Amino acid sequence: MNTNRKILFIVALMLIGLAVATITNVALNFRDYGYNNAIEKSKMTAEIVRDGLTAHMVNGIMDKREFFLSNIANIKDVQKLWIVRSKNVVAQHGEGLENEHPRDAIDQKVLKEGTIVREIHEDSENAVLRVTIPYIATAYGNPNCLACHNAKEGDVLGAISMEFNINDIRQTGAMTIAKIFAINVIFIIIALWATNHYFKPYMQLFSNLQNGIKRARTGDFSFRFTTTLKDAGSEVAEQMNTLFQKMEDTFGGIKHNLNTFASRSNLSCSDPLSTAGIIIQELSDVYKFKKTIELDSTKDAIYDRFVYVLKEKFNFIHFALYEVDNNTKERKLVHITDHKSFCNPIADKSALECRAYRTASDVYSTDFPNLCPNCMDDKAYSCIPFNINEDLALILSFSAKTTAEVEQMNLSIPSIKNYFEAAKPVIESKTLMDKLRDSSLRDGATHLYNRRFLEEFIDKSAAQALRSNVSYAILMIDIDYFKMVNDTYGHDAGDIVIKSLAEILQQNIRKSDLAIRYGGEEFLVLLHNTTSEGATSVAEKIRTRFNEKKYHFGNDTLQKTLSIGISHFPAHADSIWKVIKFADIALYEGKNTGRNRVIEFEERMFDGGEDF
Ligand code: GH3
Ligand code: MG
Ligand code: MG
Repeated sequence: MNTNRKILFIVALMLIGLAVATITNVALNFRDYGYNNAIEKSKMTAEIVRDGLTAHMVNGIMDKREFFLSNIANIKDVQKLWIVRSKNVVAQHGEGLENEHPRDAIDQKVLKEGTIVREIHEDSENAVLRVTIPYIATAYGNPNCLACHNAKEGDVLGAISMEFNINDIRQTGAMTIAKIFAINVIFIIIALWATNHYFKPYMQLFSNLQNGIKRARTGDFSFRFTTTLKDAGSEVAEQMNTLFQKMEDTFGGIKHNLNTFASRSNLSCSDPLSTAGIIIQELSDVYKFKKTIELDSTKDAIYDRFVYVLKEKFNFIHFALYEVDNNTKERKLVHITDHKSFCNPIADKSALECRAYRTASDVYSTDFPNLCPNCMDDKAYSCIPFNINEDLALILSFSAKTTAEVEQMNLSIPSIKNYFEAAKPVIESKTLMDKLRDSSLRDGATHLYNRRFLEEFIDKSAAQALRSNVSYAILMIDIDYFKMVNDTYGHDAGDIVIKSLAEILQQNIRKSDLAIRYGGEEFLVLLHNTTSEGATSVAEKIRTRFNEKKYHFGNDTLQKTLSIGISHFPAHADSIWKVIKFADIALYEGKNTGRNRVIEFEERMFDGGEDF
């Protein structure tokens, strides 16, 4: 039922209630009025008859009373009238006329009890009020009853019975009620029409507003409000139209943008206003994240923030974040929530073994059984690759106990990608900074770390090595009679020899070892956790390989030698710089004892002259 109909229904109900109350009231009043009127008439008639009969008696014309009584009976509405004598009167004055005997039980009762009896006899056609009133003997009236009657005070002398036709009153009442009913019906019709006429435009405007607002909730502000109202109603319609026009103009653009954004996220655009709220909240979170990581000093600090967001915002429990070097294809674990690895270690050696990285597309275990052969997680999982730049990519892997749980986590992927996207330029600039810094720590010709790197790195590294019982063997390497190469074949030829030595060093040490260009044609090699024999063997290998290398400068073929001094940290000293010096001392021992030699430091070589 629409609102207009509801109002009409309520008004009609109220008016009908009012009409029913009025009609009931009138009907009841009419009945009482008719009844009371007849009672009054009966009392009056009884008194007139009593006075008339008394007059007849006093004047000695009682035998003429029938004429008097028949005239009284002609009073309007008196249908029948008769009098009866009590036993007292009969005993004193005889039986009286034929029609003066008690006619029914009422007469008998009144004569016996001396009380008035009233009764209404009603049927569909007639309504008759029967009243029987006793005449009581009294010495106080005028005339004194006891003067003529052999009776005591209070004795019943006789009674008068009358039947009143109250049909007319009943009919008049019915007519009046019918008229009131008709007036009420007309009034109700007019009132409903007026209500409808007055309220309908308001109700139409109201229902228009409802429709317009309903459509506006779905982002559609094209609805326009019309009304036949002139006053405040038309003002409301006009203001709403202006508001909707403005909303349509501005919201059109927002909606388009929202659609673009929402299509990349797990949000639906069915309620664009709340979708906008969620998106703005997310954009704000992502913006704050970006502002924060911009001030972070290292790439690792940014990764830590990622981990925090994944744990706290997305409530991820088991996940791993990997960093892939796009050039070497090596994959490094940045973070894992517990020590249970997701992948076969083969994927760390070559990221091409990682399906997500190789295909550059999201991998959902829910798509196909055993989707990634290198995934060791038997639960449901997803792996998301994200390319930062040509050098670097990230991979996020996460898993859950059930498919349903991982599908729930998958809903966060678009948002997570927003975070990756925001971090991308920041990580790029941090990578660039790292590169710049790295270049200042590397030698341009050989690409080995330089002496500056050694100075920055070695103290921390030595302290760490001491704490964790790690040892280093230090190889100090210098080419024999190198000056001669420069002098004979030129500086470029010298450079070639230096570069070739750098290559030989890289080829003959392990990944965990470190080769550093220490000076012009001097190199320092740090061998990680190596015994004296191991270090000597590596040094010998380097010496031999270098010696085997043939250089062709002009028509000449040149072969060079080098000398190597070896010392051990912390076996020879617990100061790393002292140990480096010992390697240098050993090197010069080699130079002084014929060159092309590998010499391990011995205490005797050091005179204890310098403090470190
Ligand atoms: P020794 O056997 O005693 O080591 O004799 P040496 O001739 O090698 O003597 P030294 O180690 O003192 O010679 C170093 C020379 O290396 C001096 C310098 O001109 C040259 N040199 C240093 N750096 C470079 C470089 O980058 N390129 C070239 N071509 N020569 C360099
Ligand atoms: Mg030298
Ligand atoms: Mg030299």
